[in-house]
Amino acid sequence: MSGSRPGTATLVAADTRLRFPVSDQPLACRTEPRVFAIEDVSTTDDPRAREKATAQAKQACSGCPVAAECLKWALANPDLTPTGVWAATTKRERKRLRKQLVARLGDDWPGVVAEQDRRRREQQRAARTAPPTVRDQALARLELELVPTRPEPYNPWSQPITPQQAAANRRVLERALTGKAA
Ligand code: SF4
Repeated sequence: MSGSRPGTATLVAADTRLRFPVSDQPLACRTEPRVFAIEDVSTTDDPRAREKATAQAKQACSGCPVAAECLKWALANPDLTPTGVWAATTKRERKRLRKQLVARLGDDWPGVVAEQDRRRREQQRAARTAPPTVRDQALARLELELVPTRPEPYNPWSQPITPQQAAANRRVLERALTGKAA
């Protein structure tokens, strides 16, 4: 699945090491591409119109189920994401984040991040196939006893996003940049 948006010419090949995430849920940038076309917003009547549109697009990304993976893809593909908001970042923020990644992981940082992701997936696969230990089972039981009622899982597409959820998603995005995303 390409990360390009409707109406965007894609003559540049994407870096296939960090793929655009697949989601079975609707993505705001697909269902409402105009919200993300910040550069198309006219500032003739309202000098702050673009700023407001950017905030709105960032808010939409905060409720996105694939925000962390989208951020990695957007950072790894600067030629495909030269404008607009991607994963709650503007082009200037993406430029700054790329510089930080190069400083921390080197010029081939997408390769490093892709390798980290591959190892994480392997570990998760191994964890799924390995039966839980007696200790893990005891801890899980204890946790259930201590937390008898759990809140309903947040559904970003049927409920308005809360400031807490937006902040949590932002933290996921930031962790993705350090390679510590779950
Ligand atoms: S984080 Fe934003 S730009 Fe990325 S897929 Fe989600 S809605 Fe689209």
